[in-house]
Order: sequence, then C-alpha cells, then structure tokens
Amino acid sequence: MNAARRWVRDAVAALEREAARSADTHLLHVALPTHPGIDVYFKDESSHPSGSLKHRLARSLFLYALCNGRLQAGQRVVDASSGSTAISEAWFARLLGLEFTAVMPACTAPGKIRVVERLGGRCDLVDDPADVYARARAHSDDGACHLDQFGLAERATDWRGNNNIAESLLSQLAREHHPVPTWIVCGAGTGGTSATIGRYLRYRGLDTRLCVAEPTGRAFAIGWASRGSDARATRPTVIEGIGRPHAEPGFLYDVVDRVVEIDDARSIRAMRHLEELLGQRYGGSSGTNFAACLQLADEMRAAGTRGSVVSLLCDRGERYAQTLYSPACLRAHGLDIADDVAETV
Ligand SMILES: *Cc1c(COP(=O)(O)O)cnc(C)c1O
Repeated sequence: MNAARRWVRDAVAALEREAARSADTHLLHVALPTHPGIDVYFKDESSHPSGSLKHRLARSLFLYALCNGRLQAGQRVVDASSGSTAISEAWFARLLGLEFTAVMPACTAPGKIRVVERLGGRCDLVDDPADVYARARAHSDDGACHLDQFGLAERATDWRGNNNIAESLLSQLAREHHPVPTWIVCGAGTGGTSATIGRYLRYRGLDTRLCVAEPTGRAFAIGWASRGSDARATRPTVIEGIGRPHAEPGFLYDVVDRVVEIDDARSIRAMRHLEELLGQRYGGSSGTNFAACLQLADEMRAAGTRGSVVSLLCDRGERYAQTLYSPACLRAHGLDIADDVAETV
C-alpha cells in the first residue's frame, strides 16, 4: 500500500476509534401532566463531545471526503458555516491533524469564533453573509478540501442504519409504552437530519410521521408547501441552525409529512420551558422543536390518541448566553418574553 492510501486508511481508523469511544446520546423522557397517555422524548444531541448534532454530520463529512478520495494527507479543509458545524469540523480536523478554515460572516458571534480558534481552526470572515459560499469555493480552488455541509449533508450519512440518528433513537424507544412514535419532530438546517429520519422510517416500514419544526416564513416551510427548489424566506428569524434564508440542496421535501411553523417568541418561551423541565439550557432550535411537539401533543389529546412524540435537543444553551438568553438582546429584536413562561407556551 502506498503512503497516500495508508494515510487515508489510518484517518478512517481514527474516525472509527472516535466513534467507538463515544457513547450514544441520551433519550430523555419528559412527563407532561397536561397530556396523559402521550409520552414526549428528547434525544440530547448537545452531549456529543463537540456540543451539538453537527458532531454526527462532521464525522460523516470527513469520512465521505476520505472515502471519495477527496482528502489527502496534509491537505487543508474548509467549510462555510457560522455555527455549530464549524465547531464540530474544527474538532475533527484537530483529531486528524489537519488545518481547518471556517468561512463565516463577520457578524458571527465572537463566542463562536473563539471556540473554533481554541480548537485550532482559523476563521475567514467575510462582510456579506451571501459571499461565504464563493469564498469557500475559492479556498478549494486553492487546494483545500471543501467539506460542503450544505451540498453533501443529505448523502454523507448512511440512511439505512449504521447507528444513524433514526436507528439510534428508535432502538432507545424499544422498551417504552409506545416504541413506534406517532411523530418525530426535527428542524431543517442542511436538511440532513430530516432526510436521514424520513428515509429510515420508510426503509424500516414504520408508520411514524415526520414533522419539520420551522421558524415562521423561512425557506423550508415555503419550499415544502410549493415543492419549489427556489424557495426564499419571507420573514426574519433569530433562531440559529435552522430556518434557512433559501432552499438548500439537502431539503428532501417528499419524506416530510408536515411542517409546523413556530414564531420566534414561541420558540424562545419553549426554550425556557425546557430549562425548567430538564434543568439545563439548550439552544433556540431545541425550543422550536419543543413548541412543535406541544402543538402535535395538543392535537393528539384533542383526537383522543395515545402515543409518543420524539424530538431532538440540538445544541447547548451556553452558546446563546449573550443572545437568546439575554433579555436586552431579545428586546432589541422586538421580542419581549414574559418571565412567567411555563403556562404561556
Ligand atoms: C444544523 C442544526 C440543526 C438542523 O440540522 P440539519 O441536519 O442540518 O438539518 C438544528 N439545530 C442546530 C443548533 C443546528 O446546528
């Protein structure tokens, strides 16, 4: 075996060892006294070593690049990301001893830039957020390997199983009262999570329906309704990680049974409600998921249906201490959230 192939072999082995060291993320049960007979569960994806569900994606994108012969020893790695993907990719680049550059809008929260840099990554800041893709391509023309989360998320994950997020959460439900959930709820950023879950439900022949929880007026909701590939958001949002400005290549509308749109104020109230229920802080997209779960649980209760609803806690709340957990910041965005949140969700 030549040296180049040996390096790829060793890099794949390093990723497999990392996966073997990692435990599965917890599936947390939340009892809602207001909804008897309806069990709500959250898979805590914030407990990955790099703090979010993007840990799975980054591992898959590195494997995909290696196994497609696109990533060689000593090559620089680049991706366009303003958040959790950059942090997880920097984490894996360090594991493999590769240089990593995150192309980010200059307005990215300083806290996130610091985390990427602490992991050994470099941040290339561009003034206009719309320019991040062109800048990432320029890096790859220059010899870097473009991990391309938005282009490849939907295909880099093994949707038939291999302990993907759908297989993992369904196996964790096996001994529960309702092991086949009525609904699985997730957000759409790259669209990778919803594509994997939707495909896996069909592959396994399950009756579970998939709901995407989306900030009101954002591109997945509009594209899902029209099945148009050029959907654009019609409203702003403060929720990060989901609620894309335009349709992404990984949006697989046909495996999504429903989209529930959630206003930002409702997402933030639900995010705070989660802290009361679970004793830990999670990010805004976890709140969006929870608000959609409550809406579906309300409908099940009204219809007299029993069953389970499963969703995800996508990242840690500490990343948003200066933003979504800051009343002053929320007020600056016109979001005045009452202190007494639990009963208003
Ligand atoms: C990426 C992301 C999502 C959405 O997941 P995708 O698989 O990319 O659609 C949700 N929440 C957070 C915090 C994210 O970073």
